[in-house]
Amino acid sequence: MTIQSDIADVSAEKSSVYGPVHSWRVGSSLGIDMLLETSTCSFNCIYCQLGDIQLKTAERKIYVSTAQLEHDLRRSRWEEADIITFSGSGEPTLALNLAEAIHLVKEYTHKPVMVLTNATLLHDPAVIQDLQEADMVSCKLDAATEAGLKQMNRPVAGVSLASIVSGIQNLKAHYTGKISLQCMFMPTNLREVEQMAELINDIQPDEVQLNTPKRAYPLEWHLDSRGNHGDKPYPTRTLRTVSPPEAEDIEALLKAKTSVPILSIYKKEPC
Ligand code: SF4
Repeated sequence: MTIQSDIADVSAEKSSVYGPVHSWRVGSSLGIDMLLETSTCSFNCIYCQLGDIQLKTAERKIYVSTAQLEHDLRRSRWEEADIITFSGSGEPTLALNLAEAIHLVKEYTHKPVMVLTNATLLHDPAVIQDLQEADMVSCKLDAATEAGLKQMNRPVAGVSLASIVSGIQNLKAHYTGKISLQCMFMPTNLREVEQMAELINDIQPDEVQLNTPKRAYPLEWHLDSRGNHGDKPYPTRTLRTVSPPEAEDIEALLKAKTSVPILSIYKKEPC
């Protein structure tokens, strides 16, 4: 595979590889950040661990060169990880060199690769093609109505719940790896659980992961927000979460109304 990116922009100061960090979903996870320079996303979720997204965009381009990724990967603690996760400073599918990056990581580490995505670009056949070498794709779905999407995820113009759901269905039709839905619940979207069950039945993912914010919301952008699970040395705001009994009710309802395996953060070590 030809590396599209310019090796000249290799930087030793900021790394596009971080961790490994402990993930309640997958164990020891090495993070890959193909955005790096600032928080960059087509969503601006009210609970984002990165804080208010600095660059709100749906533009695909090369933000971090594949050469820089290779440089950073060689210097990382990749051997300690169970899995390599594309996540980092925003939405990984915005990286135009995503396929090249996944290929590099798989070839170098021989470990499973997961991509966490907000699913806003999955209507694009090029994005589906880029994800083919990933072992797992985890798609965010926090809302079951257009109003809920605007409230929870605050997407850039042009993104609708309908486009997200059809994008995930597009992925399901053209991808043979594991697809999970990650659903964040807060008091704000609790009223949408029943409608969420209908969407889950429409999509039929391999698994649903129920989550609630466990990390405080940073009031300013810091690179280490992408992997920092402990106390933060900068101002943060505590977020409202669902209680364990509410989480049990959500899980029970989704189990009753769908046939998809449901995994809840309340049954695991919190991250
Ligand atoms: S999709 Fe992820 S990175 Fe983007 S704003 Fe939401 S939580 Fe943050």
